[in-house]
Amino acid sequence: MSITAKNIWKRFDGKAVLRGVTVEAPTGALVALLGPSGSGKTTLLRIIAGLEVADSGAVQFHDDDITRHSARDRNMGFVFQHYALFRHMTVFENVAFGLRVRRWPEQKVRDRVHELLNLVKLPEMAARYPAQMSGGQRQRIALARALAPEPKVILLDEPFGALDAQVREELRHWLRRFHDQFHVTSIFVTHDQEEAFEVADRVIVMHDGKVEQAGTPAEVFEHPVNEFVMKFLGRVN
Ligand code: ADP
Repeated sequence: MSITAKNIWKRFDGKAVLRGVTVEAPTGALVALLGPSGSGKTTLLRIIAGLEVADSGAVQFHDDDITRHSARDRNMGFVFQHYALFRHMTVFENVAFGLRVRRWPEQKVRDRVHELLNLVKLPEMAARYPAQMSGGQRQRIALARALAPEPKVILLDEPFGALDAQVREELRHWLRRFHDQFHVTSIFVTHDQEEAFEVADRVIVMHDGKVEQAGTPAEVFEHPVNEFVMKFLGRVN
């Protein structure tokens, strides 16, 4: 299912942080929102998630206008860099959380949680608390939790930002695998161009509340449309 944000404007304290942004994530695509810090990526993702309200513009899920739907009604999975897991809950309870909110029967909850923990290859971690795991393991659990309620869309905000290079690399592959296996449409925020270019099907380059360029990694890398994109990619003519 495709996700579109159309002509989104958003101000904080009188300052426009999104200035008429339009982005599209086609059905089944893994899309990177790439840009320097402060360009409006997180705000845009939060508006798509329903966690923040735009001043104007629309969010569409396939043919449905979901601009006024609550985050819960949008049924999207989230993975954030920090506070990805509830610290006072075990791994099992964390992954079960979204299923219980949706009132899945308890036996189905147990089956689904164990299925997901097996999938992220951490079945023995069910009774642990987040503090007893590594950062990489925590983000694998966070992915499992996001995927558990069978969402059609996954939104990730700098999901691997706090981790070291090798773990980041490993998690990129997990993300790609799950994205494909679950047939979801995914949008992830990153300021790391290597991450965006390696893992995404489409890259959207943002700067100062606007989209500078959108295209496949090859299109953006080989044909930067302007000075900003060229510089941001570290390309010099
Ligand atoms: P990015 O994710 O690209 O780093 P953000 O969307 O986080 O960008 O932020 C864009 C701008 O909006 C920044 O200048 C930031 O300080 C500002 N901003 C974000 N959220 C808020 C908020 N809740 N209140 C005031 N300003 C905000």
